[in-house]
Amino acid sequence: MGEVGAFLRIGRQGHGLRPAAEAVGDYGEFARPLAADDQCRQASRCMNCGVAFCQSGIEIPGVAGAIGCPLQNLIPETNDLLFRRRWDDAVGRLILTNPFPEFTGRVCPSPCEAACNLGLHGSAVTIQDNERALSDYAWERGMDPLPAPAADAPLVSIVGSGPAGLACAWELARRGLRVHVVERADRPGGLLMYGIPNMKLPKEVVERRVRLMEESGIEFECGADAGGQAERLLADSDAVVLAVGACVPRPVAVEGCDLPGVHFAVDYLTEVTRALLDGRPCAIDAAGKDVAVIGGGDTGTDCVACALRQGARSVTQVIRAPRPADTCDAAAAWPGRRPVYSQGYGQREAQELFGADPRLWSTDTVAFRGDGAVQAVAVQELSYEGGRHGVEGTQRDIPAQLVLIAKGFLGPEESLFGAFGAQASDGTGDGHWLAPADDAATGEDGTPVFAAGDARLGSTLVATAIADGLACAEEVATQLRP
Ligand SMILES: Cc1cc2nc3c(=O)[nH]c(=O)nc-3n(C[C@H](O)[C@H](O)[C@H](O)COP(=O)(O)OP(=O)(O)OC[C@H]3O[C@@H](n4cnc5c(N)ncnc54)[C@H](O)[C@@H]3O)c2cc1C
Ligand code: SF4
Repeated sequence: MGEVGAFLRIGRQGHGLRPAAEAVGDYGEFARPLAADDQCRQASRCMNCGVAFCQSGIEIPGVAGAIGCPLQNLIPETNDLLFRRRWDDAVGRLILTNPFPEFTGRVCPSPCEAACNLGLHGSAVTIQDNERALSDYAWERGMDPLPAPAADAPLVSIVGSGPAGLACAWELARRGLRVHVVERADRPGGLLMYGIPNMKLPKEVVERRVRLMEESGIEFECGADAGGQAERLLADSDAVVLAVGACVPRPVAVEGCDLPGVHFAVDYLTEVTRALLDGRPCAIDAAGKDVAVIGGGDTGTDCVACALRQGARSVTQVIRAPRPADTCDAAAAWPGRRPVYSQGYGQREAQELFGADPRLWSTDTVAFRGDGAVQAVAVQELSYEGGRHGVEGTQRDIPAQLVLIAKGFLGPEESLFGAFGAQASDGTGDGHWLAPADDAATGEDGTPVFAAGDARLGSTLVATAIADGLACAEEVATQLRP
């Protein structure tokens, strides 16, 4: 695989980045892909290691999270085809397992690269950039829609159009079933549309995929809350899939959490994108304000980046976890993700603009203070010696007229599951089938109800949600066409 010994001669070269001063001037994509030839050279670094954990997607006891690609992309084979400039074959190999590489090639935190053998004593192969280059190539040449389904094919209604719902819809349509997607928001895409900001995933990339799905006969009904339509959907469909995400945000239950100016990150990020797409001012504005983001992770990074684009005066990120070390014991961590210090695009931009990383590590939020509206966040340093606890005498206020809470999600809205005669899954079971809805709601046939994505697993990653949507589709199709 790859070019023999290339990894010894060729160093890792990731995609370029727009300089922060320029990038924060708009919501355009911050990544600058390599030229095609350079990307092929990067693919040649894949070294035929023989223990390709990158593509395994397995769980190892004692290691947090799954190892490698959740979609089990055939990474060494795809890299090899790209290195040989067999672009069409490489695209074909990639989409065997991943229907939407244009999403993952931009937003995936690439657990594949964390598990790459080359990363043990050097720098991992640029697996994600290779994937993005292949998907860009495929879209530039035009993508064919799927053949339209037969008029009498079974009909599946999918509630939710995030990556899990889209993947499930695409796979069912590919297998010849009719698919109807019901989405509460005004635009399809779930967190791909309203959540992940435009500079990381341009919304045109989501919209063109939805257009292709529509050309493939998949119907989208937006602005429709399925909660009030359970009876109709159960009666009209041969199966229902609940791919509604895990959209109940985790609060920071401290004094002052209801003050005006304190918002959940996902509400803020949704509003930023909606305002951008609708061409109107954003109702939650960081311009000229001190902004505090509570929580790390991708969502926190996205908030930092959006606040910078709105012209925040300062941005501080309050994070409970201790700062990771600059280097790590690679062998001890491998093939799990290495807890090593790094910056996301938001922190890199803040550092370039303000001269310091915006993150306050080992710091807890004690209260939000303000008279009529939030004016400060009271924080306290944390110690991890003998279990996590606050350090006496370290409380202080940091100024903040806008607070964004990015502490993850508690789970899906359970009432929706009840409306479909099902109970929310705790994600521990293997299957996606939840229940035949009860007879009172459905008449006699007991339309089967399934769950997929974050609604089944809790908050995950785009790649995991896609993988779960695909697996759900297989289960649905098997049940409807045994
Ligand atoms: C701000 C943010 C940034 C993230 N960044 C990344 C990232 O960079 N990389 C990454 O891999 N992962 C990221 N994630 C995680 C990733 O986006 C999710 O794991 C993934 O989107 C889950 O997909 P899903 O289809 O299960 O649910 P979702 O994407 O949440 O989609 C669920 C859909 O269901 C709809 N819905 C809910 N209730 C109803 C109803 N009653 N009727 C009709 N429709 C309904 C919702 O409107 C929504 O469109 C991020 C998450 C957040 C919040
Ligand atoms: S989907 Fe994510 S984990 Fe899988 S190969 Fe692509 S970047 Fe890596």
